[in-house]
Amino acid sequence: EQFPSTGSGSGSNRTQDRGDLSELARATGFENAADTDPSLAANRSWGRRILSLVGPNNRIGIDTIDAARVTDSGVLDEVIHSVREAGRRWGAQPGAERAAVLRRAALALEANRDRLIEVMATETGKTIAEGDPEVSEAIDFANYYAARAEELDHVDGAVFVPSALTVVTPPWNFPVAIPAGSVLSALAAGSGVIIKQAPQARRSAAVLLEALWESGIPRDLLALVDIDEGDLSRQLIAHKSVDRVILTGAYETAKLFRSWRRDLDLLAETSGKNAIVVTPAADLDLAVADIVKSAFGHAGQKCSAASLVILVGSAARSERFHRQLVDAVSSLRVGYASDPLTEMGPLIEPAEGKLLEGLTTLGPGEKWLVEPVRRSSDGRLWTPGVREGVLPASTFHTTEYFGPVLGIMHASTLEQAVEYQNGTDYGLTAGLHSLDAAEIEQWLATVEAGNLYVNRGITGAIVQRQPFGGWKRSAVGAGAKAGGPNYLVHLGSWTTEEGEP
Ligand code: GLU
Repeated sequence: EQFPSTGSGSGSNRTQDRGDLSELARATGFENAADTDPSLAANRSWGRRILSLVGPNNRIGIDTIDAARVTDSGVLDEVIHSVREAGRRWGAQPGAERAAVLRRAALALEANRDRLIEVMATETGKTIAEGDPEVSEAIDFANYYAARAEELDHVDGAVFVPSALTVVTPPWNFPVAIPAGSVLSALAAGSGVIIKQAPQARRSAAVLLEALWESGIPRDLLALVDIDEGDLSRQLIAHKSVDRVILTGAYETAKLFRSWRRDLDLLAETSGKNAIVVTPAADLDLAVADIVKSAFGHAGQKCSAASLVILVGSAARSERFHRQLVDAVSSLRVGYASDPLTEMGPLIEPAEGKLLEGLTTLGPGEKWLVEPVRRSSDGRLWTPGVREGVLPASTFHTTEYFGPVLGIMHASTLEQAVEYQNGTDYGLTAGLHSLDAAEIEQWLATVEAGNLYVNRGITGAIVQRQPFGGWKRSAVGAGAKAGGPNYLVHLGSWTTEEGEP
């Protein structure tokens, strides 16, 4: 299935990798493509030949993004000042008028669906199959928060007072849905917004913001800043004129933000270490399909991803379950997102540190059911791994890896399984596979996580139907759930009708 090697790299792996791309590049007229980022280069080929996702006026620059480049505190102060002023004017408008703008934003996102899918694939390695529903989620956020904005004006006995300035710091792993959700919620609640995207996904943010600006959201109300990590980043987060920060990222980042400003109003969705419990009363076919999707979708790079499966009683000895899981995992097609047939894409960066250890090193009592293999010289493509025999309180049980590696634990009872499931610092998503009503009831009463899924995968929360947010170290701040009815009420303050706080 490999293209013949035409590259000139030195090592044999390297030659083969580059060979793929050179062949694609030549076939599509992009001779130099193999010298650039593999996913970007190959993407150009399907843009032209296979999917035609790149429109005639392809405006996705390779080196430039349409953002305010903040290089010193003077520029930062200017941006903060102007967004704050625009935010004040925006917040003075009725919720219904803000809602109308958000509904136009939803249409603009739909009109830009292909470009958004494309930039996520080229920049972050997100497959088309994962990128498409992500755009839908962003559209749902726009329409959902529009409806909630209208309601804010009609709460009996209380008046909603918008904030003037919200800073949004989204992650790279959902480079459209998460920034869209955070930005649109803050706008719906009447605030101006500065968005500082994770650098790995800065172009995706630029394409998203272009769509939002084109829909009529003014640039001084919603500013994208391109800012390096470091002192300026700290100055932005800790700035006294910032009313609130909406963060999605690591728990450690939330702690860092708090250390920069102790009275920071922070609304954060943070890390997870999520497990799916499978009892003997489960539909095993369904369980295997949901486990594979939850563990290896986007190569496991989701806060919500399944990192553990806990098999109860005889389920631990089910030969059929093990065979099906091994077959399903080993047959996943691994590749760059540029190949439309790819089922599991690359890592955002070469595996190193904790993740590299998770992909290569077994703990006491563990064995590989499916051993991960590095498939590219850039260290980004790995086949998925499954280890069995993970012990309670072991490193694998409690560590978030954020990559394509799944561990299996055994429990003798459902009660013990829930104990293991709850036995981490986090509480973001949790799943149960069982067709037994009493087991489901017992599980729901005892599991500790923000998002509970029964007989379904544990990723891919749906706006309004499954508002998303965590418990324990998976949330910092009010704990309000994104895409849920109580989110906007935390993005401003309230007074009585008489104006008394
Ligand atoms: N909302 C996403 C989901 O339900 C997860 C977002 C994240 O990884 O932070 O899968």
